[in-house]
Amino acid sequence: MSHCCIPGCTYVYKNAVIKRSLFKILRPEFAKSEEERNHRESLVQSILSIRDPTKGDKIKDMLHREMASICEAHFTENDFTVHSKSKTLKLGSIPTLHMPEKSCTVPKISYFKDSHLIILSGYHVKCP
Ligand SMILES: [Zn+2]
Repeated sequence: MSHCCIPGCTYVYKNAVIKRSLFKILRPEFAKSEEERNHRESLVQSILSIRDPTKGDKIKDMLHREMASICEAHFTENDFTVHSKSKTLKLGSIPTLHMPEKSCTVPKISYFKDSHLIILSGYHVKCP
């Protein structure tokens, strides 16, 4: 799937003039380490918390098939590592930028960043 699954984000890879990196959301149960699993779970959680309920559970199906991606516009520069031809998401990075209005408050979220477990109650994201 070559488009971003954040509601309101219109980024589609094949039509884009300036290419952004798309980070695929992989299934937590297939992670190789505890930290990786926690990170994947926090990404899944952040996607599910902002999904558009009018569009049903399509996103769950996409997550299940590992076809959901988030584009780099929703991450800060410090959230990914830049390689010569690609970018990879750092462990613990979750999308915080250009999020839809209704995602302003997510009740509770926990994630790993730099090997530390971070638990936020009332996680606020900046709304555009
Ligand atoms: Zn996007």
